[in-house]
Amino acid sequence: MPGFEFATATRILFGAGRIADAPAEIEALGARRVLLVTGRSGDRSAPLAASLAARGMSVVPFRVAGEPTVDLAREGTARARAEGCDGVVAIGGGSALDCGKAIAALAANEGDVLDYLEVVGRGRPLARASLPFVAVPTTAGTGSEVTRNAVLGSAGDRVKASLRSPFLLARLAIVDPDLLAGVPPSVLAASGLDALTQLVEPYLSARANPLTDALAGEGMRRSARSLRRACLAAPDAAAREDLAVASLFGGLCLANAGLGAVHGFAGVAGAMFDAPHGATCAALLVASLEVNLRALRARAPGHAAVGRFRDVAAWLTGRPDATAEDGIAWIAGLCRDLRVPGLGRYGMTVSDVPALVERAKRASSMRANPIALEDDELAEIAERSIAGAAG
Ligand SMILES: [Zn+2]
Repeated sequence: MPGFEFATATRILFGAGRIADAPAEIEALGARRVLLVTGRSGDRSAPLAASLAARGMSVVPFRVAGEPTVDLAREGTARARAEGCDGVVAIGGGSALDCGKAIAALAANEGDVLDYLEVVGRGRPLARASLPFVAVPTTAGTGSEVTRNAVLGSAGDRVKASLRSPFLLARLAIVDPDLLAGVPPSVLAASGLDALTQLVEPYLSARANPLTDALAGEGMRRSARSLRRACLAAPDAAAREDLAVASLFGGLCLANAGLGAVHGFAGVAGAMFDAPHGATCAALLVASLEVNLRALRARAPGHAAVGRFRDVAAWLTGRPDATAEDGIAWIAGLCRDLRVPGLGRYGMTVSDVPALVERAKRASSMRANPIALEDDELAEIAERSIAGAAG
């Protein structure tokens, strides 16, 4: 077994109602004047803002209305510096968390976001530790609360790129499944399928290790038993807990074992078509798995990932004798039940496929795919994602 590294948030507090501990925990990090980064609606963050203020802390609000961008990170950093913030708390979905993470890092370092951003920027390493950063997810999808990168869109270039550094790991992640109450079913479905993808891809990844394997298996089991039920009827406390665990474990897995073709495409497609990340992953998942399995059997039949497809199938279907195909069929059925749209919904057409393939080939996630895919295989995945997840 090759050696491995595992890095995550300094502390993770998990459990229904744990959000009540947030003010004392944030104060214990030494923060007295926090930039509170929130999502589109202020509703979900209002109780936290009130409880921080009640404890005597100054709260400087900063709203992230859509997917996080270079401009938003720059604006938030300027706000944090101008207001003298000594901590950043992000509460919301992956967009708010990624933006908050970027701001906490940039506010503590000299220069501009483009000095440090990969691909479109200069990619310099961050020199100094971030401001204390606390992440509170309110959707069960991205796992951003435990990852060491922040994905930012660059509108002019129509690409997404990461800030990446061990300094981006949160000092504290508070994962409270109660915060999922009231999340719309379409958001639960897209984010839940992203979480599932972030469990499956690291398990099949070239960089999988025993620690991420253990987390991936448990996360898949919980996602399988609760995601469909949670999206088709309002989720009960047990289902919310399962979804929150699956999302957290997916974040732990992707941050330490990498991803694969789905995310290689998703970053690129999300920037080209303005499609939400979770829905993009869901639309790509089934075709990616089928093409990968076929390529492995044809070119590397003895590859460990072939057997791993059967493990995935067993966890998802609950049947120890399930075949790799059974597992993929199970995911296709889930995508149909949850009415996952294809990327055609977001404006993608067959004529976009060559550009998408060309860019996705160079994406960092693609390097962790269990086998190097040929151009025609990548094109097949992209073409099938236009029609939809079950296609
Ligand atoms: Zn993802």
